[in-house]
Amino acid sequence: MRDIILLKLGEIVLKGLNRRFFEQKLLQNVRRRLSHVGEFEVNCLQSTIYVEPKTDFEDMDAAEEALCKIFGIASVVRAAGCEKTPEAMAARAIEYMRDAMLSAKSFKVETKRADKSFPMTSIEISRYVGGHLADAYPGTKVDVNEPELTVRLEVRERQAYVHGAPRPGAGGLPVGCGGIAVTLLSGGIDSPVSTYMIAKRGVHMIPVHFFSFPYTSELAKQKVLDLASTLTAYCGRMTVEVVPFTHIQTEIRQKCPEEYFTILMRRFMMRIAQAIADRNGAKAIVTGENLGQVASQTMEALGCTAAVCRVPVLRPLIGFDKEEIVQRSRQIGTFELSTLPYEDCCTVFTPRHPRTRPRLDAVEEAESALDVEALVQEALAGIERVRVGPDAEGGVKL
Ligand code: ATP
Ligand code: MG
Repeated sequence: MRDIILLKLGEIVLKGLNRRFFEQKLLQNVRRRLSHVGEFEVNCLQSTIYVEPKTDFEDMDAAEEALCKIFGIASVVRAAGCEKTPEAMAARAIEYMRDAMLSAKSFKVETKRADKSFPMTSIEISRYVGGHLADAYPGTKVDVNEPELTVRLEVRERQAYVHGAPRPGAGGLPVGCGGIAVTLLSGGIDSPVSTYMIAKRGVHMIPVHFFSFPYTSELAKQKVLDLASTLTAYCGRMTVEVVPFTHIQTEIRQKCPEEYFTILMRRFMMRIAQAIADRNGAKAIVTGENLGQVASQTMEALGCTAAVCRVPVLRPLIGFDKEEIVQRSRQIGTFELSTLPYEDCCTVFTPRHPRTRPRLDAVEEAESALDVEALVQEALAGIERVRVGPDAEGGVKL
C-alpha cells in the first residue's frame, strides 16, 4: 500500500467565478515541479489535491519538500495508505501514528468518507479506530473536544489513508495567476526576499541583474544565478537577464557629480528594467528597496529613481527591519548565498558623500551630460539571457 501526499488549497478557496483558473494553474505548477522528482498522479477534489506516486520507487521525501515550496498551498501532509477495511485502518493507524500517539496526552479520530458506498459511517469508523488506538496506547486519552492530537482517516475510492497534523505550505497564490513582473536581483540579502514575496502573490518573475565586469567578477554573476536557481523552487523556471552595466557606470563617473552617482545609476537600472518589462509584457518592477536603509533609499531618492519608469515599482520590503529580512532569507534558503563575499556593482562605485535628499531637477541636470538613450540601447543590446530552473543546474545560456 502506497503513501500519498494531500495538499490543502490556500487563498484560492476565497476566489469566486475564476477559482477554476487558479486551481488549474496550481495543478499545472504541482505537476511540473513533481516531474523533476518522479512519476506522480495529481488530482484535485473538494479543495484538496491528492498526489499519488505511480510506483513504489518514488522519492516521497523529496516530493514533500518540493510541494512545501509551491505557492497556493496552505498545508501539506503525508498520509499512509491501507486496505479499505476497518481492521486494516486500525492496524495502519496504530503503526503509522505511533510516535505522535506516544507523545500526546489526548487524541481523537476524524474520518472523511469520499467513498459513500463504504458500509460504515464516518462516525462509526472514527469510533472503531479510536477504540483500537486507545487500547494500543493506554497512556493517551480520548478527548473529542480539545485533543492534543487529531488522527485523520480518509476513505477514498481505491484505498483508505491515515494521517496526522499537516505541515504549513508556502501560502500565497499559484505563480502565473498574477501576471508578470521584472525583479531587480542583486547578490545581496534583500532582493531575493523581495522576489520571493511578489512571486508569492502569484506573479511570474523575470530577474534582471546588472553586471559590471571587470569591476565585479564572474563569481559575483554566478552567485546571482545560483540565487535565482534557489528561488526557482518557489518561483518556477525563470530566465535571468544579465545586463552589461560597466559602460554606464564609467560614463557616470567621468561626466557627473560624485554625490549623484548612486541615484543616476539606479535611474539607469529602472529605465532598462522598464524596457525589459515592455518586451516581456511585465506590468511592474520589483526591488528590494527599504525605507531609510541607505542614502539611495530615502523617500526623495526613491522618488527620483522611480520617476523614469511607467509601470508601478513594487517594494515589498519597504517597511521591514533588516533583521526581519534576514530571518525571511534564512527561511527561504538564500541567506548563505547572499552573504558570500563577492562585491556588488553598487558598492564598487559608491560615492563618499551621497545626496540623501536629492531634488529631481538637480538629478536631471546632473544626468544631462550623458547620452541616456544611447547608453540604455547599448546595454539592452548586450543582454545575456540565462535560464535557471530545477533542471538547469548552474544556469543554461540561451
Ligand atoms: P540587496 O541586498 O538586494 O542588494 P541593498 O540593500 O544592497 O539590496 P541597494 O544596493 O541600494 O540595496 O539596491 C537596492 C535594490 O536595487 C536591490 O534590492 C535590488 O533590487 C536593486 N539592485 C541593486 N544592485 C543591483 C544589481 N547589480 N542588479 C540588479 N538589481 C540591483
Ligand atoms: Mg545591494
